[in-house]
Amino acid sequence: MEKNNKYDVVIGLEIHLESKTKSKMFCSCLNDPDERRPNINVCPICMGHPGTLPQINKQAINNIIKLGLALNSKISNYTKFDRKNYFYPDLPKGYQISQFDYPICKEGFLDIKTEKGVKLIRINRLHQEEDAGRLVHSVDGTSMVDFNRAGLALIELVTEPDFSSAEEVINFAKELQLIARYLNVSDANMEKGEMRIEVNLSLKEKGERELGTKVEVKNLNSFKTIEKAILFEIERQTKLLDEGERIVQETRGFNDEKQVTLSQRSKEDSHEYRYFPEPDLPPLEISEERIQELNCEIPELPQEKRLRLEVEYGLKDFKIIEVFIENRDFGEYFEKIATELLNWMQHKKIDQSKYFDLVKLTTNYLTSDLIGLAEGKIIDFSEKITPENFAEFIVLIFMGEINSKIAKVVLKDMYDLKKDPSHIIEDRGLKQIDNEDEVDKIIENVLESNTSAVEDYKNGKVASFQFLIGQIMAKSKGKINPDKAREILSKKLENIQ
Ligand code: ADP
Ligand code: MG
Ligand code: ZN
Repeated sequence: MEKNNKYDVVIGLEIHLESKTKSKMFCSCLNDPDERRPNINVCPICMGHPGTLPQINKQAINNIIKLGLALNSKISNYTKFDRKNYFYPDLPKGYQISQFDYPICKEGFLDIKTEKGVKLIRINRLHQEEDAGRLVHSVDGTSMVDFNRAGLALIELVTEPDFSSAEEVINFAKELQLIARYLNVSDANMEKGEMRIEVNLSLKEKGERELGTKVEVKNLNSFKTIEKAILFEIERQTKLLDEGERIVQETRGFNDEKQVTLSQRSKEDSHEYRYFPEPDLPPLEISEERIQELNCEIPELPQEKRLRLEVEYGLKDFKIIEVFIENRDFGEYFEKIATELLNWMQHKKIDQSKYFDLVKLTTNYLTSDLIGLAEGKIIDFSEKITPENFAEFIVLIFMGEINSKIAKVVLKDMYDLKKDPSHIIEDRGLKQIDNEDEVDKIIENVLESNTSAVEDYKNGKVASFQFLIGQIMAKSKGKINPDKAREILSKKLENIQ
């Protein structure tokens, strides 16, 4: 995407997040994202009937403050609400209560990962507003409106124009999504419209300081669409500039069918919202104490957690770290196992210096075999295998009491039968044969009944060695440690003349 070397790409985002609250922003109607019946959660306040008065939702304000703090913003002690006036069928009041000049949070930032390292994205502001209703267009040309969503608490976040690629935008959006979920401030599912992203994009000649004319792109309902829309706009604007045309400042929408952005409205007919202070609400004062209290409620956030997983458990594979970051329950399950490992290590007298090795073995079995048993899904594994049993299982493998082949059988039984690994090994007679005499006997036996393979090996056919190992493993039903079998076999072969 940066094959474009003539122009710099400049992108800023406007993101709406549906705040996770019990009731709507200014009335006591339920916020129920699962409500399928239209116009159930409505009342005179959110329908804008004359004479009704809005009331500020405390939970919503706490949510936006927490998000602002997590994004390193300044929280204003004095804020107010403003009316943003426009007419649209999904807006029963004829205006939206929003914030114009005194947003609750301002001047934040978020670090994101890029190809070239960490990049700081400045956040201009986060302000509180309310959502509009939802229009449903049917094929016969009629349209209906559902006001269940009208008046839900909505957080708007505006970044500075600090992005220069689709990748950076997506990394930011994904990190924001994680943070919102960790804070329990929003579920932020793009597909459900709980997180809506508008992309502002312009180009400027390389090295030029002044920003070019921007175009705003809406209707982006997935990360894939965002990427496509950005690539499309870069190409479209590049072509126009190359042809000496000027970019028109406008709002465009991404058309899923045609995979292009299409003009929706230009600057000339852009809205004049005639903002004015909301007369039905007093200014909102936010005390330092309240901010401090909320700050204390902020849990460990993804960025800190990544670092901790690295330091505390020696995790190096960042893909595995991300699995634990994105699936918090799974991450907690892993951490419980890692704690149990310490107990087992002490019990089995395994040296502490081996901890990271055992942890690595754990992450391997968790992210491949265990997820495999759940058909590729990450489920609540603690229901299937207790962390204590899983840790024991790992210790048994580490100590060579079961080999990797048998481990698969044991894990499956643990998963299906909820038994602990030592019982399964006992019941199924799967214990590794480590009695020297017994191992010796099995290998002797194999050598005797495969004299031609032995001869071939002696004559230089290397593959015969592997064949003999196969025979030994089969004869012992996989219960001999393959490394041990190799060691003894090569010794024995050396002694054969
Ligand atoms: P407007 O007043 O047109 O809404 P704002 O200054 O409020 O513009 O910015 C809206 C969004 O557009 C912000 O995310 C901002 O970072 C971004 N933006 C502003 N100017 C540019 C530009 N020249 N190119 C790309 N993005 C821009
Ligand atoms: Mg704006
Ligand atoms: Zn209501």
